[in-house]
Order: sequence, then C-alpha cells, then structure tokens
Amino acid sequence: MPIPLSTKEDDDEYASSTTKALLPFDTDYSSTQKPSSRSTVLIISLVLATCIALFAAIAFGFLFFTVPDSSTSSSIASSTSTNIEYSRSLTKLKHPVVLLISSDGFRFGYQYKTDVPSINRLIQNGTEAELGLIPVFPTLTFPNHYSIVTGLYPAYHGIINNYFTDPETGDRFSMASHEPKWWLGEPLWETVVNQGLKASTYFWPGSEVHKGSWNCPKDYCMFYNESVPFEERVDTVLKYFDLPASEIPSFMTLYFEDPDHQGHKVGPDDPQITEAIVEVDKLIGRLILGLEQRGVFEDVNIILLGDHGMVGTCDRKLIFLDDLAKWIEIPKEWVQSYSPLLAIRPPPGYSSKDVVAKMNEGLKSGNVENGQYLTVYLKEELPSRLHYSSSYRIPPIIGLIAEGFKVEQKRSKRQECGGAHGYDNAFFSMRTIFFAHGPRFGRGCKVPSFENIQIYNLVTTILGIQGASNNGSVSFPQGVLLPSH
Ligand SMILES: [Zn+2]
Repeated sequence: MPIPLSTKEDDDEYASSTTKALLPFDTDYSSTQKPSSRSTVLIISLVLATCIALFAAIAFGFLFFTVPDSSTSSSIASSTSTNIEYSRSLTKLKHPVVLLISSDGFRFGYQYKTDVPSINRLIQNGTEAELGLIPVFPTLTFPNHYSIVTGLYPAYHGIINNYFTDPETGDRFSMASHEPKWWLGEPLWETVVNQGLKASTYFWPGSEVHKGSWNCPKDYCMFYNESVPFEERVDTVLKYFDLPASEIPSFMTLYFEDPDHQGHKVGPDDPQITEAIVEVDKLIGRLILGLEQRGVFEDVNIILLGDHGMVGTCDRKLIFLDDLAKWIEIPKEWVQSYSPLLAIRPPPGYSSKDVVAKMNEGLKSGNVENGQYLTVYLKEELPSRLHYSSSYRIPPIIGLIAEGFKVEQKRSKRQECGGAHGYDNAFFSMRTIFFAHGPRFGRGCKVPSFENIQIYNLVTTILGIQGASNNGSVSFPQGVLLPSH
C-alpha cells in the first residue's frame, strides 16, 4: 500500500546597520590646539580630504559600473554576446541526461544556514535562480511537484490540492491516488518515453500513474515508500550510470522528504533544519562522488530544486471560522481544506457570492480575532497571477491567509508552534531553490527568479525532444541554457 508523500501538509528575516562616524572631528578640540600643532592638523586635514575625495570617486565608479543590468547579468545569451559560451561536449555519455532532484520544502535561503560544500559546488560551477524558484499557488507539495514536471498550473494539471473532492463524481483524491483520471497534462517521464527515450523515477508525485507510454516499469519506477533510506535512493540512481550507454535513462528523478519533514514540526528557524540541510548536502556529495567515480559528473545535467518554502506558525496566529457565526455559519462539511489553503464548497442552494460577502463582512468588522489576516474570494475573483480558477475541481470559495497565519474551525487547547506552506506564492518565504549544473548550464551564472512551470520546457530543450503544450514560455530555456553547437 503506497504511503502518501508528506503527510503533514495541513498541520502543518534581518540586519541592523550601524552608522559609524568616519571622522570623529571635534571643533572644540581644534580650538584648543597649540600653535605648534596647527601645521600637523593642516596636513592631517589635507590627507583626510584627499582620502574622502578618492573614496567618493571610487564609490561613484563602483555604483556606476554595478547598476543592475538585466541585459548583462541575467541572460546567458546576452552576457556572452561578445564571447559566446556554448554548451560543453559530452565526454563519456552518448546522449544528454537530466537528473531532476527535489528536496522537499527547501526554502530559499536555507543554503546560507551552514556550510554546504557539495551544494556550493553545483552553485559555483552552475546556474542559480538568484533569489530562488517561485512555486505555483497553492504552495503545496503535490500541486507543485506536478507543475514542475508538466509545465502546467494546478488548474490545468488537475492536482489542485494535496487532497480534494471531485464535485461531479464525489470521488476523493488523496496523495495515494494513482488513477490516471486525476493526473492531467503530460509529465516529463511520459514525454520522454513517448519519444523513444528512457526515463526513471525514484519517487515523484504522479510517477506511479500509468499514462501514455509510461507504465511505471519495474526497476525504473519506484513505488513511494518513505522508509527507503536517502542513501539507497542516491545509490540506485548512480547504478543507472553503470548500464550500457544506450540503456542509461535520459531523464531521472530523485526525491527527498527533507527538510520539509522537519520544517512542519519546528518551523524554518531551528537547529533541526540546519541539521537536515547538512544531511541533504551530504547526499548531494555522495551523488557527486558517485558520478565522478563513473566519469560522468560533468556530463549530467543536475537540477536541484524544491517544491516550496516554509514559514513559522504559532497558535496565537489563528483565525476561527466559528467566530464568523454572527454573520454566517460555515459548517465543517463545507470546508475542503483549512490551511494555508482555505477552500470552501457550500452545498447546492447556497450562493457562493453571498457566503463570500458575509464572511468578508465578519472578517473586516474588527470583531473577529485576526480577521484582518484572511480575505475570502470567489475563485474567479482571485488575483489572476495565481492562475487558480480554471478548473471545476477548485471549490468556488478560496481564502487567502496572511503569511504565518492558520485557519481552524474552532478554538482548541492545542498550543504548538511549527511550520507551514501553501500560502500565496508571492511570499518570499514560500520560495525554494533552483541550482543547475552540467553541460548545458553556464558556470557561476545567476538568472532572475522564475516560476517552476518553466522547468518542463527547460528539460525538453536539454533532451532535444518535442514537449507537450504547457503554461511555460517557449523562449525561456534560451535565457537559462547555454546554446548548443
Ligand atoms: Zn513539499
């Protein structure tokens, strides 16, 4: 019996600057100078004035020459326009390979918590989304992992939440649902095998689902089992590189539950997170070493990313639906999910528009605790940047919850702090990482942050195959990948 990924989804900042006086002049001091020391003061003053002028000139020059210029700093194509850098030739492999690795809940910035020598090898010799990878809304595990491999927003790939009810059939989707009817779009493994190439999946939401030519082949498609040690997962992927050249999968996935697992329990700023990051780094080190021993490290396009970030939550940051009873009663049967994605489907006979109006009236009244931290929308009226309305599966009423707040039905005695994700993808805390290393990626390159729906086209371009239509931009890969010869 397969076990769902990340079982606790639902339960689931910086500096002060001091300005120091550079010149501790005291006019009173100079007035008490003896005549004999005046020439010394004059010389010192002249030296200081010269230094200040020089400093100002240098500072001006620095500012002038380092004004961010997207045409030179963010685009491979233009930054190399005078000296075009091409993708590097394969030395041992006979065809391009993409290894897509997900470290669940790896919030952007975790890489600065501690030394991560192996991850830094990928960053320094590869290409990085400078301020992180932007997840899709809702910033939950299943919707995001499936957006990464389909290039589609959840409204189009059908996995609109980690669990939901189909309003037409009444069927329940859970993270253990492998029936193809739920999983729309064309995931990368399907695209790859449809075009005659090989793919392997060591866990990824949707990978066990039989779709098109993909039938989750034994030995190349691992059924989810969270108890498999991470090292074993890495070693299995490494063994694919021991196969005869033509048998090596062109596309491989690898998945780790950490540091999401710890993030839900203790929040993003805790020693347990730092420890988890050290462990993830060791796994990347193990992978790099194994690839080096096989002489293929420089041949493999490694993409290390996450599905979303993490933010700290505490029980004092709660909004209770029962507190809205004076305006409208919201029974728990109406609620498909509470937090951080509030999704409500009133039964037939109720006007969703009226429910939204009454809920917002209560929330904005000033008489509901933390009411100002929740805004309820008809899904069609959500900000369009969220792309979260074009699916009948999405309940008609969606609440956007302020960062770090949670919605619950009623007050309880639970007093625990932890971490959560699922919020608006505009929150910086929901961002995750994108580090890519390999023959198609420039060394030491930074690209501006982008949404994960762009990754599908990135992978198909590296593999040189025709992808299915999706929400990503056709031209996106050109701005990130080195041009091929
Ligand atoms: Zn996740």
